Amino acid sequence: MRGAVLYGPRDIRFEERDTPRIAQPTDAIITLSATCVCGSDLWPYRGIQAVPEPTPMGHEYCGIVEDVGGAVTKIKPGQFVIGSFFASDNACPNCDAGYQSSCQHREFVGGAQAPVLRVPLADGTLVATSDVPTKELIPSLLAVSDVMGTGWFAADAANVKPGCTVAVVGDGAVGLLAVLSAKRMGAERIIAMSRHESRQKLAREFGATDIVTERGEAGVARIMELTGGVGADSVLECVGTQESMMQAIHATRPGGYVSYVGVPHGVELKGEELFFAQVHLHGGPAPVRRFLPKLIDLVCNGKINPGKVFDLTLPLEQVAEGYRAMDERRAIKALLRP
Ligand SMILES: [Zn+2]
Repeated sequence: MRGAVLYGPRDIRFEERDTPRIAQPTDAIITLSATCVCGSDLWPYRGIQAVPEPTPMGHEYCGIVEDVGGAVTKIKPGQFVIGSFFASDNACPNCDAGYQSSCQHREFVGGAQAPVLRVPLADGTLVATSDVPTKELIPSLLAVSDVMGTGWFAADAANVKPGCTVAVVGDGAVGLLAVLSAKRMGAERIIAMSRHESRQKLAREFGATDIVTERGEAGVARIMELTGGVGADSVLECVGTQESMMQAIHATRPGGYVSYVGVPHGVELKGEELFFAQVHLHGGPAPVRRFLPKLIDLVCNGKINPGKVFDLTLPLEQVAEGYRAMDERRAIKALLRP
C-alpha cells in the first residue's frame, strides 16, 4: 500500500509502505473510510519538532474492521469503528478514572494517513457504530476520532456549565470544536479568539457569541472589557504556545478554570504568576476514548456536525497538498479519502 511518510521539514512523501498485519493477538486491522491531517502534524512538518527518522504520519481514523487478533472478543470484522490516537486497554486504573490517554498500556496509533491501519488493544480502543454509517456521516465521525474529542475534553476540563462565560483561545479545528462543545454543554456566552474571517464564521455557526481579534495581552484586555473586568469562568487553550497559554491564564477570573489541549511547544509557567492567578489548570492529551460513545451518538442522531471543520477534501495521494494548505492556513482541516 502507499501512505504518507514525513522525512523532514516540509518533506512529506506518499510512498510504498508495508501493509499492516496483525502483530499482537489484541490487534485489529481496519480499512480506513477517511483520514485527515491534524494541526499537531504541522509541528514536525514545520520543523518545530524534530523528525529523527522517516515517520509514517496520521493518527485520526475510522473505517471497517478487516481482521482481528485471537484475543479480541468485542470488535468483529465488518464493523465500522472509530478510535483515538492513543490505544488504551480501557481496563487499568487510569482508564477507569477516565484518563485513557494515560492508560498504563497506552500505545500511540500512527501511520493513519494510509488505506489500512493496525490498531493495538482493539477491544479497549475501538468503538463500533450500531450500523455502517452513510457516506454523509463519515467526516463528522472522523472528527470525533481526535479534534471533536479534544475540543470536548477542553470544555469538560475547563468545567463548562450551563450559563457560564467561556473564552476559547485558538481558531484551529480543535478551537472551533471547543466552541461547539461549550455550546452543547450550555455555556451562555462564548468568546472565540480569531482573526480569520472563514473561521470566525464557523465559530459563530458553532455557537460563539463574541469574536475577539486581538492577541496576547490586548486579547486579554478585550476579554476583561467583555466580562466587566472579571475574566471568563472557563478559558479553553487550544494552541500550545507561550503566548496562548498566558493569554488563557490571564483571561480567566479568579477561581475560574483553564484547560489546555494544544501540545505545548516552549511553554514555561512561573510559579509566582500561577500563585497569584488563582485559577484551576487541567489539560493534556485528550482522553478521547472516554467521550467516544457519547460523541458518536450525538453525530449519528444529527445533534452535532463537527465534520464542518473539513473545508478541503483530497484523495489520499494528494496528502502533501493537504499539509501545504493547512500550513499556509488556506484550509482549516484537510480530509483525505483513501
Ligand atoms: Zn488502561
